[in-house]
Amino acid sequence: MSLPTRDAGSASPPFASLSPAVWRASTVVFDTLDDFVERKQRQPDGYSYGITGTPTARLLETRIAELEQARHCVVTPSGAAALMTTVMAFVRGGDHVLVSAACYGSLLAFCQRWLAQMGVQVELYRPTLGADVEALIRPNTRLICLEAPGSLTMEMADVPAIAAVARRRGVLTMMDNTWASPLGFRPLAHGVDFSVEAATKFFSGHSDVLMGSVSTNDAEHYAVLRETQSILGQQVSPEDCFLVLRGLETFALRLAAQGQATLALARWLAQQPEIEQVMYPPLESDPGHALWKRDYAGYGCLFSLVLREAPPAAFHAFFGALQQFPIGASWGGVHSLAAYYPGELQASRPYPATDRPLVRLSIGLEAVESLRQDLRAGLDAYAQHAG
Ligand SMILES: *Cc1c(COP(=O)(O)O)cnc(C)c1O
Repeated sequence: MSLPTRDAGSASPPFASLSPAVWRASTVVFDTLDDFVERKQRQPDGYSYGITGTPTARLLETRIAELEQARHCVVTPSGAAALMTTVMAFVRGGDHVLVSAACYGSLLAFCQRWLAQMGVQVELYRPTLGADVEALIRPNTRLICLEAPGSLTMEMADVPAIAAVARRRGVLTMMDNTWASPLGFRPLAHGVDFSVEAATKFFSGHSDVLMGSVSTNDAEHYAVLRETQSILGQQVSPEDCFLVLRGLETFALRLAAQGQATLALARWLAQQPEIEQVMYPPLESDPGHALWKRDYAGYGCLFSLVLREAPPAAFHAFFGALQQFPIGASWGGVHSLAAYYPGELQASRPYPATDRPLVRLSIGLEAVESLRQDLRAGLDAYAQHAG
């Protein structure tokens, strides 16, 4: 039996589709021995082995780079992988890294429990620090990690100020931009070196795929990122790339609709007697509002609530009464979600924003009025137990 040795990648008679091809490959085959021997020279953009992606991954990287207005992009199997791959690409033992205390939990854990054990000096800084971060820079400071608004507690940071200080002092900056997405904020345009997105969230939009991206304008940094992705085995599935490419087709419309609904619901929640605080920079009452207004467009779809003090039974009643908000982690999909973070977890954080439990809501594409009624029913159940 003889098997075909090549997929010619073209059909006869001619075929055209509006959707991208899903190219699968572990092995990439070469025309000549010379091509094979020199295969590494095809990096960082080309194809030499499946680990660095096939044309399906490259197409997704091109689309994300367009959104970020970046020259280069590398996709990774998750948002977490994008953060850790970037850190592993540029940080070595003996370096000092500055990490916002409001950065994504896995990044904090990685820095504190892995990097710190590998001879890296890890220092957490106050999420709202701004240009004062300069006082923390040491001769061996290599990287500043930012996220704005901060994970869970939504602290805003003066990103341009931090990026300007870092540039002047020769320190790299990495920003987790997942909350705003590049349609709400473009980190690279504000002087940040690496813009990281959890494509799991808005880009994919349907709560069914994990993906991350790192975008940069610097060709040398891009080559290092690509090599690190390869060495660490951070390969992306072409099927998953296809799903994110499909999600991107409706991304701008979803973001706009979910953002409008989120603003309306956050404003309404802020007026309910059971709500003590809405952590959401687009609200005028939020301490980060001025920075948000100066630098950001769009409203995101995610905010956190501090409810009036009540026993744990009230939270169980609240979550139990909700019909339109399944309980779950992650966010940014077309389905609304609710999540809970205990007060002790907040209190134990360096530079805590609160010591109270947080309810985090992600707003999807359901009718706003039915979401509002559902939340009102949840708050009624809460109030019955709150005394
Ligand atoms: C979800 C999330 C991540 C991690 O993304 P995964 O794809 O779930 O690994 C990173 N940063 C932020 C801000 C997130 O919300």
